Amino acid sequence: MIVLSGRVEVTQHTVAGDPLPIITHEPGAFLGELAQLSGRPSLVDAHAVEPSNVLVLAPNRLRALLIAEAELGERIMRALILRRVALLESGAGGPIIVGPASNGDVLRLQGFLGRNGHPYLSLDPDTDPDAKALVERFHFDPGQLPMVVCPSGQMLHNPGEFQLARCIGLVGPIDPQRIYDVAVVGAGPAGLATAVYGGSEGLSVLVLDSRAFGGQAGASSRIENYLGFPTGITGMALMARAYNQAQKFGVEMAIPDDVIGLEPARDGVDAVPALRLSSAETVRARAVVIANGARYRRLTLPNLDAFEGSSVHYWASPLEAKLCAGQEIALVGGGNSAGQAVVYLASKVAKIWLLVRGASLRAGMSRYLVDRIEGLPNVEIVTGVEVSALEGSNGSLSAVRWRRRSDKAETSWPIRHLFLFIGADANTRWLSGSGVTLDGKGFVLTGREADMTGPLETSRRGVFAVGDVRSGSTKRVAAAVGEGAQVVAALHAFLARAERETVS
Ligand SMILES: Cc1cc2nc3c(=O)[nH]c(=O)nc-3n(C[C@H](O)[C@H](O)[C@H](O)COP(=O)(O)OP(=O)(O)OC[C@H]3O[C@@H](n4cnc5c(N)ncnc54)[C@H](O)[C@@H]3O)c2cc1C
Repeated sequence: MIVLSGRVEVTQHTVAGDPLPIITHEPGAFLGELAQLSGRPSLVDAHAVEPSNVLVLAPNRLRALLIAEAELGERIMRALILRRVALLESGAGGPIIVGPASNGDVLRLQGFLGRNGHPYLSLDPDTDPDAKALVERFHFDPGQLPMVVCPSGQMLHNPGEFQLARCIGLVGPIDPQRIYDVAVVGAGPAGLATAVYGGSEGLSVLVLDSRAFGGQAGASSRIENYLGFPTGITGMALMARAYNQAQKFGVEMAIPDDVIGLEPARDGVDAVPALRLSSAETVRARAVVIANGARYRRLTLPNLDAFEGSSVHYWASPLEAKLCAGQEIALVGGGNSAGQAVVYLASKVAKIWLLVRGASLRAGMSRYLVDRIEGLPNVEIVTGVEVSALEGSNGSLSAVRWRRRSDKAETSWPIRHLFLFIGADANTRWLSGSGVTLDGKGFVLTGREADMTGPLETSRRGVFAVGDVRSGSTKRVAAAVGEGAQVVAALHAFLARAERETVS
């Protein structure tokens, strides 16, 4: 909204209930932040404090303006992003999570909202009087925390991510009648690149992701080898830019929405492909791009899942760094992702036990990372070992045990946070029965290996694969982004051919 005359006050909700002023807009100023780019619910309230005239731009007109007027578009886009950053810092406009700071479900919900760039407030009733008052006012059973209070006033008891996302308007229902040009499964670098190039070239694109945008790249504490970022960039910052960029080009996002199946082509005829979602909804699109990457490998320990989310981590972001600040931690892995995490966490924690299966770090890690790690005084590298047991209770780890592979000698050390960076496996079980062929390890075959001419085409017509999920792909952010750009040319050719066939 552009204020033409009068004054409009923007306020945020507070736990106590009284609105807190953020800014008062005068004529010439405009209201809005990132949510308005995609037509999501507003995170703040606005009231005309005197008779006012405002020009209302619908989201599609705003996006058209951003693209048509490059300079003005840049200023507006920058303002939308900075306003979201301010909301993220204050937690304004988002849901309130009420529960103990160390509770595994509190951490899960914080991680979900943080990774999706959505503001939230987290209040611990043991230390925060406002949270204590909320628990008393609504008669919450302290044993049943966390509770989440959505901005609409709706209260949720320890919700799943999908339930929370629906409550705050992050994800809406899928229109069953709509046929998109392209449905992209996965919002990692490959999926977001497909979305940006596809959206900017006029295709209607829907991106689905089961967790958050950014994929594995979002878990990287510092990407130093991505072209154009000589000082490095956090994976989250790079991916958030791509996510906003895709929305600027009108791409629709359905996050979190888990794709659980691709319907087989009917009677051998390639009808419009249909994706099945865990929400029981169906998405239909003329073409599908599989960009769902790989799944982090887990340790085969019987009680691992009891500690995941609270004490065992697959990410090393500021959220995890805060959790283990000043403590001793263990980190398992000998590849570059492990190396990056060590370099990042070393400045936040007291000590890192780096547990490596192989005989040397140099076998699996880039030299620049090995050199850096060897120069860190608070990192102890233990090679030739495997984690053999986890000890603790109620989701809190108290000790990690590791075993030397040569003589089976065991060491136990008091550690409350364990980080796992041990590679990733194919994540393609959802494709079974879809007509898309996989290699022996479960990665998607494309091009000549799938008896197709286009390098990114799968064995099923109209279905393409890009990024880490593709058999033989280079597991790098730049490679995933390159394939995302490349597949859009193939999509245009496929859609044009399909159109010609329908006409004739
Ligand atoms: C910690 C870490 C650090 C790294 N650092 C670097 C680096 O510095 N430089 C570099 O070049 N590479 C790095 N990599 C590798 C790089 O991140 C990957 O190669 C890249 O992210 C692959 O992109 P992708 O889009 O193909 O898949 P992914 O990034 O794996 O994204 C796939 C997305 O699909 C979603 N998804 C999965 N299944 C489904 C489903 N059924 N339905 C809906 N959505 C689904 C996932 O939630 C995920 O968001 C790093 C990887 C890790 C883990």
